[in-house]
Amino acid sequence: MPLIRLVEVFNNPSNFKNITVNGWVRTFRANKFVALNDGSTVNNLQCVIDFEKTDEKILKKIASGVALKVKGELVKSLGKGQDYELLVDTIKIIGESDPELYPIQPKKHSFEFLREKAHLRIRTSTMSCIMRIRSVLAFAIHEFFRKESFFYVNTPIITGSDAEGAGEMFRVTTLDPKNPPFDKYKNIEFKKDFFGKETSLTVSGQLEAEAYALGLGNVYTFGPTFRAENSNTSRHLSEFWMIEPEMAFYDLNDNMNFAEKFLKYILKYSLSNCPDDFTFLNDRYAKEEDKKPKIERSEMGLIEKINFVINQKFKRITYSEAIDILRNSKPNKKKKFEYLIQEWGSDLQSEHERFLVEKYFKSPVIIYDYPSKIKAFYMRANSDGKTVGAMDILFPGIGEIVGGSQREERLDILEKRISEFGVDKKELWWYLELRKFGSTPHSGFGLGFERLVQFATGMSNIREVIPFPRTPNNASF
Ligand code: ATP
Ligand code: MN
Repeated sequence: MPLIRLVEVFNNPSNFKNITVNGWVRTFRANKFVALNDGSTVNNLQCVIDFEKTDEKILKKIASGVALKVKGELVKSLGKGQDYELLVDTIKIIGESDPELYPIQPKKHSFEFLREKAHLRIRTSTMSCIMRIRSVLAFAIHEFFRKESFFYVNTPIITGSDAEGAGEMFRVTTLDPKNPPFDKYKNIEFKKDFFGKETSLTVSGQLEAEAYALGLGNVYTFGPTFRAENSNTSRHLSEFWMIEPEMAFYDLNDNMNFAEKFLKYILKYSLSNCPDDFTFLNDRYAKEEDKKPKIERSEMGLIEKINFVINQKFKRITYSEAIDILRNSKPNKKKKFEYLIQEWGSDLQSEHERFLVEKYFKSPVIIYDYPSKIKAFYMRANSDGKTVGAMDILFPGIGEIVGGSQREERLDILEKRISEFGVDKKELWWYLELRKFGSTPHSGFGLGFERLVQFATGMSNIREVIPFPRTPNNASF
């Protein structure tokens, strides 16, 4: 007999009568009612046990965390809280669990506590909702690109170039840390390392994706990304997943239009494909907001906020316009910002981004045309001589969710920029060659997958939206 998942039963209860299901006990009360969950849905199946028919030894073993196989008849429930329930015929313990030791008790646990039990936290309703939505969002991303005739490319995870300039890197080496080879100047001889050179984990697949875009036209990557920056924030991970589309013949405006369409599609897709998970998280979010002081509360519910992003035209402003708004803003004048905005050219901090999105425009915002000094070497120089065709998309509660640009396709200007940035030109010989053979305008961006999941699920900390988070001082599990 094929195994039945609870989600199939709940979606079409009239198709099921006598069934056998497997799952884990969430709660067991009155020696009679088992709330069973198999992970396929946030909803539990209430299993009603007739204790006269059931072996006492089995009854004694039923507790939160136990794995069961239950056979019975699905009937309409007269009780509150569920439409259907299972009248248990036979019950079998598949995996025992000691209720005294099982950490996931049927009560509210803090996220901090659950992070220490990352191998079991997926058995909670909140974590399982997040991870089902994460999975559906990943599918939506592939689906969107397939519809748009993009090709999925896998760029290297081990990289030999330190030229990407996106952040600190993790070294990959097989040299003996106790006894590495030194040259006569006491520098480590990476020539003797595994790849014959210094290598690291990638911080971005963009440069390689550009090469593929200039042959396949439109491509995207979706893979793990590593940054050894010591930023212990609620929006940074040391290992995260990034989606990086790269499009030949797109200018900055095409890039912004496409990114906006993309974000709206995947959010809409996940809302319509995970209704129960979103309903659960929406209620949770509302309860959390209620606990906050009134001025800190979000004006919108979770689903409302997602729909707002889907239906809203993103506000677009240049970096210069953003600086003007910020300079004249109340928190700047009253010195409420930690980093005061003084002059044109300084980088925007997340407090500034959030002011623009949450207070000033009350809308997702795209900021474009940034000062060339604070952006990467590969971004296309504008004719004003001081800005580049960069764009960042800022979301409520998150700040930067997308960072992208039009790429510099003119060889002479790119070479100049590379030397200004002090990047080794020899390392980038192949990247420069792309500008010699059929160079075209092209553009792309990076979407942080966990920041997207964080937005969609309303989690305040990014550590809740990836199964086993890696952050400074933490690589357990
Ligand atoms: P931030 O300024 O927030 O640190 P960044 O400017 O370093 O981000 P980019 O290099 O533009 O980020 O990377 C593209 C996207 O990848 C970002 O918009 C963000 O969504 C995501 N991202 C970047 N760094 C991290 C990180 N450490 N953890 C999770 N996501 C990240
Ligand atoms: Mn960025």
